[in-house]
Amino acid sequence: MATLRGISQMSIEVRHITKTFGAFAALTDVSLVVPDGELVALLGPSGSGKTTLLRIIAGLEEPDASEDGGILFNGENVARRGVGQRQVGFVFQHYALFRHMSVFENIAFGLRVRPRSTRPSKEAIRAKVHELLRLIQLDNVGNRFPSQLSGGQRQRVALARALAIEPRVLLLDEPFGALDARVRQDLRQWLRKLHDEIHVTSVFVTHDQEEALEVADRVVVMNEGRIEQNGTPEEVFHHPTTEFVMQFLGHVNLFRGRIESDHAVFGPWALQNAGDAKDGQEARMFVRPYDLDIHTADDGRPAMKATVTRIQAAGPTARFELLDENSQPIRVEMPHDRFRAMNIAKGDQVFVSLKDSRVYVEDYVI
Ligand code: ADP
Ligand code: MG
Repeated sequence: MATLRGISQMSIEVRHITKTFGAFAALTDVSLVVPDGELVALLGPSGSGKTTLLRIIAGLEEPDASEDGGILFNGENVARRGVGQRQVGFVFQHYALFRHMSVFENIAFGLRVRPRSTRPSKEAIRAKVHELLRLIQLDNVGNRFPSQLSGGQRQRVALARALAIEPRVLLLDEPFGALDARVRQDLRQWLRKLHDEIHVTSVFVTHDQEEALEVADRVVVMNEGRIEQNGTPEEVFHHPTTEFVMQFLGHVNLFRGRIESDHAVFGPWALQNAGDAKDGQEARMFVRPYDLDIHTADDGRPAMKATVTRIQAAGPTARFELLDENSQPIRVEMPHDRFRAMNIAKGDQVFVSLKDSRVYVEDYVI
């Protein structure tokens, strides 16, 4: 399984971690388990506490003191171990490689600076660096300097440098954040493949939901210093437990309504109230654009009347912007073949029906 020598499996447990800066709570009672060999994404908007959590895992930042809080590597509390002793590999968004050193020397650096007693021999270092260069698919650039590489290549070298020390844990903080969209996409797939090869337990920070969903085994969605949801990409995308998660992971339409005689009612749509919500309570319904359907005639299905204001047919699906009778915007997406079969144009009156939705009362799904 693990093809890279020296990489061992390691679980990470974050237990009841709180971190305050003065009166401001950057993290509030965060608990999380990263199983052996998994790649977990911390996903959240800027300021949600992702970097702070990563720095605490690394030992670069200390959490607030608490009785039951701690960071555990393979079940062992590492609170008293400094950064150097935790054997953590780091890659940042702007991981400045040493400009005056070749790629080879950059990767070898972490091994060369070890105390003599644990420093590998010259030959061993050379073999290790070549192994890593092959792994990042840059065998031929060992003699180049960082300025002679593209941004994407530099981040791959940064990753090799982090892996050279045989980290027990790899922490990546928006590693592709500074690269352009195309390169980012390639590197995402590349990172996923690399992880499948070496299985080093990894925590990957990003504010980009697509990136998190595509790369990670699990996605931990963060908001204002707390974990909103921790699940597989499919779970957080298709079964968001909170409104925040639903809205953060891709576009959604919001409809406002209320609970009436055990139904959640939104204009023409009445959905069975399966939860504890009480009559009169306000409800919000979130619907992804592809979970709405458009038809040109009233076919008896409960439907909202709307006017087409824009059609965008370039792209993997046909996308519509509509206005309902209260001038609220609605976004709908459908496959091209269906769009072509229907013959809809801007300005048309249409009927919108519901295929799937999530209803929240207060902050919870009913
Ligand atoms: P993210 O990485 O999700 O963007 P951060 O973990 O960097 O978020 O920051 C979370 C919050 O904590 C932010 O509001 C930030 O301003 C605050 N913060 C982070 N580090 C410090 C610090 N050293 N001193 C004061 N506030 C900080
Ligand atoms: Mg950050």
